Amino acid sequence: PLDEAERERPRLGRAAPVRVRVPAKINLHLRVGDLRPDGFHELSTVYHAVSLYDEITARSGDTLTLTMEGEGAGHLPLDESNLAIRAARLLAEHTGRPPYARLHLRKNIPIAGGLAGGSADAAAALVACDALWNTGLTRDHLADIAAEIGSDVPFLVLGGTALGTGRGERVSPVLAPGHTWHWVLAFADDGLSTPEVYAEIDRRRANGIADAVAGEADMLLAALRQRDPEILAATLVNDLQAPALALRPELMRTLMAADDVDALAGVISGSGPTCVFLAADSRHAAAIAASLERSGVCRSTATVTGPVAGARVV
Ligand code: ATP
Repeated sequence: PLDEAERERPRLGRAAPVRVRVPAKINLHLRVGDLRPDGFHELSTVYHAVSLYDEITARSGDTLTLTMEGEGAGHLPLDESNLAIRAARLLAEHTGRPPYARLHLRKNIPIAGGLAGGSADAAAALVACDALWNTGLTRDHLADIAAEIGSDVPFLVLGGTALGTGRGERVSPVLAPGHTWHWVLAFADDGLSTPEVYAEIDRRRANGIADAVAGEADMLLAALRQRDPEILAATLVNDLQAPALALRPELMRTLMAADDVDALAGVISGSGPTCVFLAADSRHAAAIAASLERSGVCRSTATVTGPVAGARVV
């Protein structure tokens, strides 16, 4: 007969699989400040997590592996350059354990879409491995590791609506009353490289091109508290919009469609090329999405809501 220790061994050795869902982010306000000596820009942003999700399942394994399905499958490298792998490795280093896990990614967030999909996968891998390995790390320690992986990763662990400062890695929740906002995402055929968009804003500033610069986020934060989409519409702003449009002029057609499809506002998300349209409610969002699809100004659309939670075990 098995003694107590023998019966326990299989259970201790093989933790149950952990499934984590993580949202995409849009930026409701994005001010790009000075270029810092470390190569990052000083940012002031209002992040907003929306209901377009990637999912990572982590299982016990004898090595660290990553497989995937969905958006970008067959193109996205699954090696050490993948942010999900980097997150798992970094967590293992911080906790002094071998980085053994079999990760599987189900991807819905378009790659290089300005929706921080890669950072989302890093946040999901971090939360999934943290649970699989039962590390016992505090939320703060996890946030530090998240920041080490990338500027947007701490927000994707946190979720909701939050103010981001520093290079975006310092996040604090925005205390807005419970209200659901309705958005339509318009996806483009090809991604835009975030570093190239930042290089373009530097080039424009060096050449004295006078794009309007976002001010403080106060107006936007007040609009969020008022729960009125018409008021919020007037406050959406993104300093990366002009450089993204300069690199991808055809996006102007997509943004200009906001009027034709009767959206309250249209803005580029992060470094683009995904365009975000604000709707009054879910029916309005469905109508905007249908019009955008008919107009042919984008690859496809998704109707989403926000704010939603960050990376969570489901
Ligand atoms: P951001 O809004 O944070 O600037 P993005 O949404 O424009 O980012 P991502 O999809 O997050 O772009 O990733 C950009 C690049 O990161 C990709 O071109 C890809 O090479 C690399 N990358 C590494 N791991 C991942 C991942 N798991 N998913 C997507 N991209 C990844």
